[in-house]
Amino acid sequence: MHPDLEHVVLTEDEIRARIAELGDEISADYGDEPVLLIAVLRGAALFVADLAREMSCPVELDFMAVSSYGSSTKTSGVVRIIKDLDEGIEDRHVLVVEDILDTGLTLKYLLKNLASRSPRSLEVCTLLSKEGKQRVPISCKYVGFKIPDEFVVGYGLDYAERYRNLPYVGVLKPDVYSQ
Ligand code: IMP
Repeated sequence: MHPDLEHVVLTEDEIRARIAELGDEISADYGDEPVLLIAVLRGAALFVADLAREMSCPVELDFMAVSSYGSSTKTSGVVRIIKDLDEGIEDRHVLVVEDILDTGLTLKYLLKNLASRSPRSLEVCTLLSKEGKQRVPISCKYVGFKIPDEFVVGYGLDYAERYRNLPYVGVLKPDVYSQ
């Protein structure tokens, strides 16, 4: 375990196994229909790479970047598109891939924005969902894991842009925040 971590919440094996299940479930739902995975940068980059490889239906990929947290651990509620999609999504099956659903403010904004572009369908797959934290209702069809309300890092998730490359998800020691 990384020395800055207090404990591991999800091991590499647990994450791999759950993503395989999600890939099967999603592939069964879409069948032969092409699905466009829209990954929300930067946190979902690792997740979408692993999820796409577990899917057997035709997969297309695009990326969006939005501002949400900066380097602090509290949501600002302010969401801004920093990088938009490269292609239109009209009449396409869209699956938004997120790293973590916390307050839901980021996804609420994103889904409203994407819905206005007339996709054929629009669903969400999030690796993690924080229990009891959602301030706005988000209908999330695919959820990897429900986790307690703790700030987590690893497997794409950062604190001040660090720890994204850890292959597992864990909680930082409190003294790491005060450095
Ligand atoms: P929301 O708008 O509050 O749902 O926040 C969503 C975004 O905040 C996520 O896509 C992450 O980038 C970030 N975030 C929320 N909780 C955590 C956490 O525990 N660790 C790292 N990033 C987080």
